[in-house]
Amino acid sequence: MGKPQSQAEMMEKLVSLSKRRGFIFPGSEIYGGLANTWDYGPLGAQLKKNLKDHWWKTFVQQRADMVGIDGGILMNPKIWEASGHVETFHDPLVECKVCHKRFRADHLLSVKGIEPQGVHVSPQIEHRAACPDCDGELTPPRAFNLMFKTFIGPAEDSTDAVYLRPETAQAIFVNFMNVLNTTRKRLPFGIAQIGKAFRNEITPGNFTFRTLEFEQMEVEYFVEPSTWETAFEGWAAFMEVWARTIGIDARRLHRLEVLGDDLAHYSKRTIDFEFDFPFGRSELWGLAYRTDFDLTNHAKHSGERLEYTDASDQSKKFVPHVVEPSLGVDRTMLAVLLSAYDEEALEGGDTRVVLRFTPELAPFKAAVLPLSKKPELAEPSRALYERLLKRFPVDYDETQSIGKRYRRQDEIGTPYCLTFDFDSLIDGAVTVRDRDSMKQERVKIEDLENYLETAL
Ligand SMILES: [Zn+2]
Repeated sequence: MGKPQSQAEMMEKLVSLSKRRGFIFPGSEIYGGLANTWDYGPLGAQLKKNLKDHWWKTFVQQRADMVGIDGGILMNPKIWEASGHVETFHDPLVECKVCHKRFRADHLLSVKGIEPQGVHVSPQIEHRAACPDCDGELTPPRAFNLMFKTFIGPAEDSTDAVYLRPETAQAIFVNFMNVLNTTRKRLPFGIAQIGKAFRNEITPGNFTFRTLEFEQMEVEYFVEPSTWETAFEGWAAFMEVWARTIGIDARRLHRLEVLGDDLAHYSKRTIDFEFDFPFGRSELWGLAYRTDFDLTNHAKHSGERLEYTDASDQSKKFVPHVVEPSLGVDRTMLAVLLSAYDEEALEGGDTRVVLRFTPELAPFKAAVLPLSKKPELAEPSRALYERLLKRFPVDYDETQSIGKRYRRQDEIGTPYCLTFDFDSLIDGAVTVRDRDSMKQERVKIEDLENYLETAL
């Protein structure tokens, strides 16, 4: 086993494999693309679905203290006033007076080794930075709101303006009473959601790391105010265990305590879980203690009471506090792909590329490979393939040599190859080849469902 040396080269290889094998395509490609948008191809869509299903199973279904919702992308714009996003969800934008390129002021400072002080970088940026492209003079920074705006109805009137949600969290807060009243959950309990969010980023990039639209898997976990630290530590550990379960390389995952001005406007404590991406150590997930900020503000702005009544003492009403594990689907998938990618030196100087996905995440669980295209092998192989499809996502491949087909399945992370050969017609068995060990064994065709069920 050996990872490729250069990180830039590693990223290039992954982007190229993703395109070539149908994991991730550049968005709107036949029209010249649309910067920082990506489409998931057949294998990417299946991998992404497996990832989300695994998250839902682990974070919602298997926990008695969790329920899920699926909120709308368009919401009453007053929600974003209450949440603070209209007021404070800004990036500091500077523009080059010569070439008119736009940059984030805090990023320009970081490049120069200056620690940006939150979004208030004006005094810092002056006289310290020039355009990184042409060395031209920069405008003073201005606050640029990251929310995408659109309009309901035919008139593009500001009274009809709505935003595409910049986070999924708010749908959970505004439905807090609905969920409480319909589920009769007692504290501590959480509400989870998977869904798209949108941010008009000035400097997106690094493949699917930072994109204009992305998918989040979020939990808002409601607690009695005095118990938030226990919940916070519990979720931090839970998230790290999940990272290992889905095959994220633990050596590349790090906790970062977010301090002072870098904390979001709603948070009293935040941990960033950072991952060593090829382009540097960057945020993968977040865990934030949001206090009662959101429920209190929504109560104030909506005029509704958003309170919890103690089960043992009906006179005791209070606003729960919130701990929020927030995970990006696209970033998690990128970290899974990077952790899974391996180049293994073989005897004879050959190298094979293997995506070492966990069986639960692998897009295909197995591939049926007839040794020859001759109908006497292809026909029963095809029948076997269609039979297995009823139980598992399975691939079928009859082109080129069996060695090449093994490599192709290794490269997309298929855990098992099932080779149907001439002996199969006599012994009613196929050769099962393990992706990681490359060991082979004969398994009866009639037992394959049970075999795969146990092995996966
Ligand atoms: Zn310039």
